[in-house]
Amino acid sequence: MNDRSEVRGQRSKMRSEVRGLRSEGVRAAALLLVAAAVLNAQRPAVGPAVRQFVRSDAAVIALTNARVIDGTGAPAREGQTLVIRDGRIAALGATGSVAIPDGAETIDLAGKSVLPGLVMLHEHLYYPTGPGMYGQLALSFLRLYLAGGVTTMRTGGNLNGYADINFKRGIDSGVVAGPAMDATAPYLNGGPFPLRQVRILKGPDDARKMVAYWADEGATSYKAYMQITRAELGAAIEEAHKRGLKVTGHLCSVTFAEAAKLGIDNLEHGFIVATDFAPNKQADVCSNSRGFEAVDPAGAAARELIRELVARRVAITSTLTVFETSVPGRPVPPGLDVLVPQLREQFERQHTAIARQTDTTRLAGLKKEMAMELAFAKAGGLLVAGTDPTGYGGVIPGYSNQRQLELLVEAGFTPLEAISIGTLNGAKYLGRDARIGTIAVGKQADLMVVTGNPAARIGDVRNVEIVFRLGVAYDPKKLIESVKGSVGLY
Ligand SMILES: [Zn+2]
Repeated sequence: MNDRSEVRGQRSKMRSEVRGLRSEGVRAAALLLVAAAVLNAQRPAVGPAVRQFVRSDAAVIALTNARVIDGTGAPAREGQTLVIRDGRIAALGATGSVAIPDGAETIDLAGKSVLPGLVMLHEHLYYPTGPGMYGQLALSFLRLYLAGGVTTMRTGGNLNGYADINFKRGIDSGVVAGPAMDATAPYLNGGPFPLRQVRILKGPDDARKMVAYWADEGATSYKAYMQITRAELGAAIEEAHKRGLKVTGHLCSVTFAEAAKLGIDNLEHGFIVATDFAPNKQADVCSNSRGFEAVDPAGAAARELIRELVARRVAITSTLTVFETSVPGRPVPPGLDVLVPQLREQFERQHTAIARQTDTTRLAGLKKEMAMELAFAKAGGLLVAGTDPTGYGGVIPGYSNQRQLELLVEAGFTPLEAISIGTLNGAKYLGRDARIGTIAVGKQADLMVVTGNPAARIGDVRNVEIVFRLGVAYDPKKLIESVKGSVGLY
């Protein structure tokens, strides 16, 4: 699905470049250009609106004296040279042992680290702007995601119909700056639903129809939501799988174990939202009391649910960032200064009110969720990462993706493991780990360069200097500067 759209993007790039050259009457050059574009099929189109954020799109770039953290969980390697050619990693090894091609643009990375670009799976292009309402902020969010080091993302639910799909196409064709994107269809939900921007399914046939419709429109992923019934979810999964597409869910009416048996691929937010432990759970009905307070992460019930999910290869998405904003005593989240003043004040007022609370229930819940995610990963489960910029706000794209890695370390993962969860594991889930998610010769040059050493201090992931996507070097400062103070408007 994604490959097809990448090819489409290349074609439309070629077409528009050919058009430009024809108007200058240089047909022969146009033909040569087409040939070059076919040979360099890895290099993306960079349109004028994107070019303003590009630091370099040289065909050959050599990064020297770098510390390489390759995303596999292997220890960092010091003093490395990495050669990027036409969007791919062409060579990698100790500086001095790797030949730097003639004409390469060389960037000395002494004191800096190179990591794979982040692959983040619970992202959104919308943000809470008013009571129960969500504004579409695709343009600014996509720039912030890229600036934060995210080179591939899946939107984890869509409230605005065609926007995710159109922006995905815009990125593929070089018209919009942003990470490669898996566009999720509008939410699959039953009723009654607290969110007003979502359609309510009328039954399993309707679910099947909705999945088929959005697949035809170009959605590459599905998200089931809290009030869906088992029959609707089962039908949606069947239809999506028929088309080779995956389904994730933020569930409530359906338990994790029920969804696993229905064949769901992924469950969002981790165990804190599971209704498997809810006392007196009624089938197909969302239950507000989830019984999570009583769950022992090392107890039989938790172990049995983890065993079931691992056995059925259901991935869990960790979204600790969105929970943290509601826990008293936690730090103010990073990146608030990009928001329009009104949204910033709205968030800060509420965050300050929460900070004054003395109740420790929510802190205990966050800590338990962390313990459950660690147990799931240690039991062999595929833990992936996302940030979920919803809640009451304050989860700012890019910044929150870095914060998510810090929170995984707080949960008990080593920095190398946390980086691997935020890169390789996401790529594995998407079935793209042969191309992205780690640093190796032959792989796509999707990289983040940071000052410092996140293998020792995970907080250094905040110091992003350059982000490469398909070998094109983006300047994070320019991306952030372009939206600073106006996130909330577009
Ligand atoms: Zn979400």
